[in-house]
Amino acid sequence: MIFEGLADRLQETFKKLRGHGKLTEDDVNEAMREVRMALLEADVNFKVVKDFVKRVKERAIGQDVMEALTPAQLVIKIVNEELTELMGGSQSRINMSPNPPTIIMMVGLQGAGKTTSAGKLGLSLKKQGKRPVLVAADIYRPAAVTQLQVIGKQLDIPVFSMEPGTDAVTIAKSSLNYAFTHANDVVIIDTAGRLHINEELMQELKDIKGQVKPHEILLVVDAMTGQDAVNVAESFNKDLGLDGLVLTKLDGDSRGGAALSVKAVTGCPVKFVGMGEKLEALEPFYPDRMASRILG
Ligand code: GDP
Repeated sequence: MIFEGLADRLQETFKKLRGHGKLTEDDVNEAMREVRMALLEADVNFKVVKDFVKRVKERAIGQDVMEALTPAQLVIKIVNEELTELMGGSQSRINMSPNPPTIIMMVGLQGAGKTTSAGKLGLSLKKQGKRPVLVAADIYRPAAVTQLQVIGKQLDIPVFSMEPGTDAVTIAKSSLNYAFTHANDVVIIDTAGRLHINEELMQELKDIKGQVKPHEILLVVDAMTGQDAVNVAESFNKDLGLDGLVLTKLDGDSRGGAALSVKAVTGCPVKFVGMGEKLEALEPFYPDRMASRILG
């Protein structure tokens, strides 16, 4: 369960605080010291933790809180609001084009869950009445094309691919013609991943971006890699420009450091979370619900 340790720690801290009745500045400082430790142990980015604690303290050591009838409750409310804000405030949706097809480019490192997430997103859009097409532009890993075709078949979603040897930019461009002639209103392009970020990969992604002008570039990152995921997001955003993130494998991430840090560090909102290997296991990311999970 995500935020397992963090939730336990914070709930313990606030239980102590509630036992105090009226709060002194020392009580708040002590509680915030514990919050700080708990966030760091959850692998939240150091600077994000520092700013977060500072903001909560500024709000909590005010007259209103000190004089409130239930001061601890008010501190918890502030923490809840600030956690929600940290994760982006409100739900961020995909940019749908008023002139179909909406073009979505999925990018990310190998193994992050890009191909699976492309399928999951296709299914979710199909359930909303859209007619997506999946595009197999991950040409370096031959199995990736087959993998996408298998997923497409399972979901009854068409998969556009071209003969081996065709370059990714040509495939991506040609898929738009396919979408026009087959009345597909969403094009989901599965691009190639690499083990590490490198110049060649970025150049190819930039070329595809320049040629197909996507409405949405979604970076898929593995939540279990914690701050590494945040660093990957930062570099992709700098080089390519991102519209949002898909945080996968949240079902296996008990700490939650990436989910809590990535928006604050990169400015990119998490739009979806992967909650399992099944193709139904993609959910929109709701910052307020996530915060409530932490605070119980
Ligand atoms: P790609 O190389 O980025 O295209 O990654 P894949 O889509 O092939 O996924 C790599 C592995 O991660 C596969 O075994 C997926 O089933 C698994 N995976 C993807 N998303 C999730 C998720 O949200 N939760 C879990 N538990 N596994 C996932």
